Amino acid sequence: MDPNCCASDTHGQNVTSCPVSGTRGKAVPLITLKALLSPPALVRLTPEDAFRFCPDPTCDVVYFNAAQTYRTGDLKVPVFQKDQAPGVPVCSCFGHTRADLSAAAASGTGQALEASVRAHVQAGRCGCEVNNPQGGCCLGNVVTVLRGLGRQEQA
Ligand SMILES: [Zn+2]
Repeated sequence: MDPNCCASDTHGQNVTSCPVSGTRGKAVPLITLKALLSPPALVRLTPEDAFRFCPDPTCDVVYFNAAQTYRTGDLKVPVFQKDQAPGVPVCSCFGHTRADLSAAAASGTGQALEASVRAHVQAGRCGCEVNNPQGGCCLGNVVTVLRGLGRQEQA
């Protein structure tokens, strides 16, 4: 028998961990890849396959499934989890970068910024599935970064 006859069984949904880092990834909507992949990467997309997002900051893979991976260079935008630069958006929808959050925390308006993002999300204005590479809400990232900045101030 052809040893590859069953290879297509693993095509798509069954792989839940990044093939490079082994990190478990959450499923992302296909529209996220369509919105954020660069044209040369998008033309390789097999849209019948489900993709997951690798959140590991040390891993260059952004999206993966059994058949394909997309790396940071395949996206039109920087990925918060993978890029520590100050200009990288933490909240892609409402345009708050790491530098913006640092400035807000330093001036004591970090909580107000978080509250404004939360209000926009609650009002149904966020478009994380097409703006945020992780394909889901960025509010958790905003909270995590602000808490990290708060800890630095206290230290
Ligand atoms: Zn990975």
